[in-house]
Amino acid sequence: MSLEEEVRALKDERDAVLLAHNYQRPEVQDVADYVGDSLYLARRAREADRSVIVFAGVRFMAETAKILNPERTVLLPDLRAGCGLADAVTADQVRAWRAEHPGAAVVAYINTSADVKAESDYCCTSSNAVKVVEQVPAEQEILFLPDMFLGDYVRRRTGRRMHLWVGDCPVHAKLRPEGVARARAEHPGAPLVAHPECGCASQVLPEVDRVLSTDGMVRFAEETKEPEVIVATEVGILHRMRRLNPSTAFTPLDAGAVCPYMKEIDLTDVRDSLAERRFVVDVLPETAARARRVLERMIAT
Ligand code: SF4
Repeated sequence: MSLEEEVRALKDERDAVLLAHNYQRPEVQDVADYVGDSLYLARRAREADRSVIVFAGVRFMAETAKILNPERTVLLPDLRAGCGLADAVTADQVRAWRAEHPGAAVVAYINTSADVKAESDYCCTSSNAVKVVEQVPAEQEILFLPDMFLGDYVRRRTGRRMHLWVGDCPVHAKLRPEGVARARAEHPGAPLVAHPECGCASQVLPEVDRVLSTDGMVRFAEETKEPEVIVATEVGILHRMRRLNPSTAFTPLDAGAVCPYMKEIDLTDVRDSLAERRFVVDVLPETAARARRVLERMIAT
């Protein structure tokens, strides 16, 4: 039996659903029941009718699945799958920041720990960040964390009074304006789509053709008739874009934009996770209850 067949058989045997983020290894995406961005996977996690959720992604995503599904078992196949961006802010820092800005609303990007979500008023993904910020009453100041590039993009789009936490994703922050200029010269006429966490997206916004969440990029890939498209985000998404649309050449802005955390999980880890029921992700009930409040609101947006 191949590894892939083993995983499929174990999923049924263990009553499990396998969710994979767009940045996961191609072989993991291919065997997953659902592939998508954080918001899509958060929705699927809630709707899954299986008793076990295996999350091929990073830790904060598995925590989110657990918060939304307290009665189910959530497994993260490799505990080293963290997130450099989520590590950029702690719950203590959120409390201290809030104390400096009494009355402000805290908007947390989904790439945060459960403890940080529990201290926040709103939560968003890159797909709905603009809509979520527009929901905050106009008279309220906003503290946006932890990604300053996404925050800057949202501030420009909404014109709201926003303070930005100085944090970034180490993978996206490396995508710079110089790289955009080089790609433009090397691939004349090819449209450039960028994720709003990219350092390039906020600094050379007028030069980017489309700013899209990862799922927005997937939809764009399905629909585009362009012969070539330059993609500015983690390279894992290219697997899905190329599979959905083999007639367009999808070229990474930077082939070195690889998230080491997202690549921790391979198919052997997924098989072992199912076989040995590891590693179980838990969130303290009180923290989960407070974080669920903001996640439910995010999902409804
Ligand atoms: S790409 Fe960046 S934000 Fe996404 S998991 Fe990796 S470190 Fe975190």
